[in-house]
Amino acid sequence: MNDFRYIKGELHCENVAIKDIVSAHNTPCYIYSHAALVRQWHAFDDAFDTRSHQICYAVKANSNIGVLNVLAQMGSGFDIVSGGELERVVKAGGSPSKVVFSGVGKQADEIKLALKKGIYCFNVESEAELHLIEEIATHFNVQAPIALRVNPDVDAQSHPYISTGLKENKFGVDSEDALRLYQYADKSSHLTVKGIACHIGSQLTTLAPFIDAVQRLLFLVKTLKENHILISHIDVGGGLGVRYQHETPPTISEYANALLAQIQDPQLTILLQPGRAIAASAGILVTKVIYLKLSGNKRFCIVDCAMNDFIRPALYQGWHDIIPVKKSLQMQPLMYDVVGPVCESGDFLAKDRTLSVASGDLLAICNAGAYGFVTSSNYNSRPRIAEVMVKNNEYKLIRKRESIEALFQEESIW
Ligand SMILES: *Cc1c(COP(=O)(O)O)cnc(C)c1O
Repeated sequence: MNDFRYIKGELHCENVAIKDIVSAHNTPCYIYSHAALVRQWHAFDDAFDTRSHQICYAVKANSNIGVLNVLAQMGSGFDIVSGGELERVVKAGGSPSKVVFSGVGKQADEIKLALKKGIYCFNVESEAELHLIEEIATHFNVQAPIALRVNPDVDAQSHPYISTGLKENKFGVDSEDALRLYQYADKSSHLTVKGIACHIGSQLTTLAPFIDAVQRLLFLVKTLKENHILISHIDVGGGLGVRYQHETPPTISEYANALLAQIQDPQLTILLQPGRAIAASAGILVTKVIYLKLSGNKRFCIVDCAMNDFIRPALYQGWHDIIPVKKSLQMQPLMYDVVGPVCESGDFLAKDRTLSVASGDLLAICNAGAYGFVTSSNYNSRPRIAEVMVKNNEYKLIRKRESIEALFQEESIW
């Protein structure tokens, strides 16, 4: 959160006062720091230094084309999970030749689109998908570049909803099936074997599961070599955690060094798919206090954003620091549940927080740059909120607040 700091008691993003952005664009709104995105991306890129590598930012973490464009300009690749994300990358100025396509349910039209745009690689997650990609590539008489996403069966020890590398999860192919599928792909006239991939989960706070997974992949690489199947890259996925509260995830350079120590073959290009570790700390969600309410002995701070705008607290019990936009000593610090207007008891942003607030005050929900706006919905007919990017002493609206009319303009009556 280096790019969000107080200057004379007023919260700033880089050199812009949050209150000025709110005057122009109202609340709630997401505010992203350009400098933070650049710094986080470079931390990954620099950590691999001269070793052959490519960062493929996981688009699903924050897919605003303003954000993607910042990364594309630095030469980032992208990890996509749908045709829609591919179109976004292209629109944002990203190069399809640096795109990897993950996901268990790629559909025929998405595969066609990816082949047409010339993506770098499909991360294939099942035998059936491999056959469909081959069939489509054959039909268009093109080569489909593939890697198998192997399920290394390691426990990421993260929240169960964001752990993906255990056999019981839906992702990837079993390592026992991998050799057979690679042999099949290797013989196919329309499949080109490029690499091997994995992704074991999100918000990992220790290195051990990453190392375990990479070792299992490297073992398979060796088996492939013995079977005369040579691959050019190893894709280690994303998943590096961030500090939301008391977590102590490895630093980006510790993470990189651990991978570099394992992957010693210089012929193997290292692909990475970080999402959260690039975007989370680059964004805040700014909201306004509507009411303070005492109910029994519980105090509620009712704000104008809700679970439809930011679902991490409700869905994953995600903890996010909440800080005042203007530091004030006027109000007595009291313990509140911070809740939104949505009609669900699960609609909360934080529980049991000590805040010095009055109605009308602005609050910032920290580390909201990843899995924030992208998971928002129109539940309760709430328009999706504005997104703003700050660059030094300027700011730009990178997504306009949705209008009420837009919510039902595609609907009709019988
Ligand atoms: C979600 C996802 C990522 C990004 O994960 P982070 O935890 O945000 O780094 C990378 N690769 C794949 C395949 C994913 O599904």
